[in-house]
Amino acid sequence: MTAIALAGGPAHWATPGDGPNRNGATWRSLAACRGLGPDDFYSPPYSRALARCRRCPVWGPCLFLALASEGAGYRFGAWGGATPTQRDAAYAHLVARHLDPAVLLAQEEAWWASRLAGRDDQALPQAAA
Ligand code: SF4
Repeated sequence: MTAIALAGGPAHWATPGDGPNRNGATWRSLAACRGLGPDDFYSPPYSRALARCRRCPVWGPCLFLALASEGAGYRFGAWGGATPTQRDAAYAHLVARHLDPAVLLAQEEAWWASRLAGRDDQALPQAAA
């Protein structure tokens, strides 16, 4: 498995106009949790956070980002529509199939980058709260 540095944290750490969103749209621009504070994502059983994730169009790259950055290590909070226990299971599933979440993340990011090329981050529709 490829270890990656945490590239800006989960999407729910990003706020409009901040960080990776500043220079154009990325998959994070479409995050249903964009602009929320982290409290709901770090308070089990994460009900409010997971409700957001269920209608999030970018849960794929978000989940792969979580799995790639956490690796086999400690898991904390809700990311990518999954609790820490669910991410443990997802990571084991990938490892058993010799799949690297960092590679899957790169593929997802490339796909979203091509889809969002030239789009203005601030002009994208946001998921309903
Ligand atoms: S899947 Fe959940 S944590 Fe990830 S960007 Fe979407 S709403 Fe945020």
